[in-house]
Amino acid sequence: MDRFDRVFLGDVVTASEIIADGYVAVRGETIAAIGQGAAPPAVETIDHRGRLIFPGLVDGHMHTSSAISWAGIEGATRSAAAGGVTTCVDMPYDVPQAVTSAAVLQDKIGWVERLAHVDMALYGTIKKTGGVDAIADLAAAGISAFKLSTYEYDAVRFPRIDHPTMVAAFREIAKTGLPVAVHNEDQELVERLTAEAKAAGNTSAIWHCRTRPPLAETMADLEIFEIGLETGAHVHIAHSSLARGFDIAENFRAIGGQATGEACIQYLCMTEDDIVRLGGRGKCNPPFRTADEVERMWQRLGAGKVAYVSTDHAPWPLERKGSPDIFANGAGLTGLQSYAPLMFTLLEERGLPLTLMATYCAERSAKLHGLYPKKGAIRLGADADLLVMERADYAFDEALIQDRPDLRWSPYHGRRMRGRVAATVLRGRTIWDGGRVLATPGSGRFVRRQTR
Ligand SMILES: [Zn+2]
Repeated sequence: MDRFDRVFLGDVVTASEIIADGYVAVRGETIAAIGQGAAPPAVETIDHRGRLIFPGLVDGHMHTSSAISWAGIEGATRSAAAGGVTTCVDMPYDVPQAVTSAAVLQDKIGWVERLAHVDMALYGTIKKTGGVDAIADLAAAGISAFKLSTYEYDAVRFPRIDHPTMVAAFREIAKTGLPVAVHNEDQELVERLTAEAKAAGNTSAIWHCRTRPPLAETMADLEIFEIGLETGAHVHIAHSSLARGFDIAENFRAIGGQATGEACIQYLCMTEDDIVRLGGRGKCNPPFRTADEVERMWQRLGAGKVAYVSTDHAPWPLERKGSPDIFANGAGLTGLQSYAPLMFTLLEERGLPLTLMATYCAERSAKLHGLYPKKGAIRLGADADLLVMERADYAFDEALIQDRPDLRWSPYHGRRMRGRVAATVLRGRTIWDGGRVLATPGSGRFVRRQTR
């Protein structure tokens, strides 16, 4: 038998086990052998012994292009490479145009192929009115999922889809077999509470939380799952900051619905105290909740009720995150480069198995987006996408973020981390060596949904 092209040595972490003193052997761009002990012959042996080799992370939810257009793909994916994220699943709410047709999707794929440092799958969406007709073509063109919203940020880029249109859209989406993720906030509640807060002069950071209370989220969860039940669509809460969101999803599954929800990593560690501390840099939607809620979130994750853990990376330039009026700041956090160190740290701090990172940050997100088994797992025949972590003790430094200077900020700046990304491997090639991004624009590829 021919030698392998490359062998990576280290402790191999899969969703089910840790193979101490293991190896992952690569031929071409795919994994050709996995084992323990003496490594098989290879043209090149890369020694990560003493480190942990995870599957490259699959971040199922991010926004590379909502602030600075498709040019944002370049920096966001460079930061992903430095963070061990080998597949980015990018949201469709882009400027100047959202991904609302197969033609726009083709344009965006062109930008991905020219600019991306890691592989990317893409969401599609629909126009506020008249968009349902584009659904079948978007699915056929290879998007991994649809994204709709119950809340309007922008009538063109990020519209609220009204109930009759949502029913019609879910019916069409059900025929494609793709999931539909929904941004879940009740517009009437949020608008009224925000208007009242502003009128009373309540514009400090905590009012972001007070004007987007848990009820705004759970009401939206109920309506989207009801429409899902009626239409047969797989409806997915794009982000639940509340344990109750996962309970509601489970209730709908119990009566025959296809209902899931994801947790973003910030809802597993940040609290209302953090937005008070961080101001605009702590603003995201839904907002941070209480410390008790964070504990309930971990309980639901431990019970297997969370579909996967994502970042909702949405890198607003610093100039959009510094207003003392919380309502004047952009909503969204950076998170790609901190994702792996933070998840590693949270698991270690809680004494939970590291296999959970392979499960919730790679395998499950890849499965929901129809990318598995090509992506999301260390297994034979899969793309050789790897994240190499080494144990460490350091403060996360936002200055090291591998993105444009005005996007080098992090809500986790200064947080103690217990793991560091020592290397990232994309389809067999090392694209981050712990200090430098070795990938170049165009190293990444568009990844179609593989399964329906
Ligand atoms: Zn988002």
